[in-house]
Amino acid sequence: MKLDLELVPERDLKNKPDEKHLGFGKYFTDHMLVIKYTHGEGWHDAIIKKYGDFSLDPAAMVFHYGQAIFEGLKAYRGTNGANYLFRPADNLRRMNDSAKRMCMPALPVDYVLEALKKLLEIDQQWIPKAPGSSLYIRPTMIASEAGLGVKPAKEYLFYIILSPVGAYYPEGFNPVKIYVTDKYVRAVKGGVGEVKTAGNYAASIMAALEAQQKGYTQVLWLDGIERRYVEEIGTSNIFFKINDELVTPALSGSILPGITRDSVMKLAQHWGVPVVERPVSIDEVMQAVEDDSLQEIFASGTAASISPVGALNYQGKEYPIHGEKIGPLAQRMFSELQGIQYGSLGDIFGWRVAL
Ligand SMILES: *Cc1c(COP(=O)(O)O)cnc(C)c1O
Repeated sequence: MKLDLELVPERDLKNKPDEKHLGFGKYFTDHMLVIKYTHGEGWHDAIIKKYGDFSLDPAAMVFHYGQAIFEGLKAYRGTNGANYLFRPADNLRRMNDSAKRMCMPALPVDYVLEALKKLLEIDQQWIPKAPGSSLYIRPTMIASEAGLGVKPAKEYLFYIILSPVGAYYPEGFNPVKIYVTDKYVRAVKGGVGEVKTAGNYAASIMAALEAQQKGYTQVLWLDGIERRYVEEIGTSNIFFKINDELVTPALSGSILPGITRDSVMKLAQHWGVPVVERPVSIDEVMQAVEDDSLQEIFASGTAASISPVGALNYQGKEYPIHGEKIGPLAQRMFSELQGIQYGSLGDIFGWRVAL
């Protein structure tokens, strides 16, 4: 498939935002990649063109039944003049897992990765330079066919947009307070919690809002059946250091298999820290807090990389974790991931892709 380029003339390029106030997902670059899909024809009409509106039929199936999936990864401005992606093929492969679950078409991974690199070359001036900042990459696929029957659409749009984002922790890398919800659930086995489909996030907003109203940054989700086993924190995976082991909930069918999660496990193993994937009940966590065997809790995800947890609220009571300070393993993990992503450290696992 040919990739068309319809570039914005130099004089019409946008002004870049102030790098000190980027926030998250507020600004978008000059260009986007768009590829169409039609049943029977496959993917076609790949183009990099000016960032802008789509025209969609009000009956487009994405608006009614939610066939929408996405990914999130970042491009980093390297400390040595190069720019990097982190495990990008893993994101595209995961997008295909999401597509499969949502009865959407698979992407040609190699083609899309090359097209993404081209898009990043065109908009490379948008990769911010401020420490900890990056260019967030949002691949998205939506059902564009018009029709009100509940069935897989025959037409789709795939696109990638880019957004310069600030350091997740502008005031430094700080522990967050987390609210354990036993009122709402995110996902159940057999549902769609293990894929990145839009509806999961719509369903999570109310719980996050209520936690914020109580003074907490995010919710900790328990399993949807017994409300007993720990699953995730907000839109990130969770790790516990208990008795010198790094423990994370096993992928159960309702947990999103994070690429940062996988990277954390591989790094910890490499450092000789025992890593265990298994069911973790909230009772076990509370018991470990009581008897002081719980050393650290942190969350992992692309947006914030590593977030240390400073306190947990469970059933109305707040429990400090690691004296509300950053734990040494969370700190080491954060520094190592940053070093790999920005190119200042060696990349023993071959995760970094130079642009
Ligand atoms: C994206 C996401 C994660 C983190 O995945 P990464 O690949 O590490 O960014 C974790 N949980 C949920 C629900 C997610 O959507």
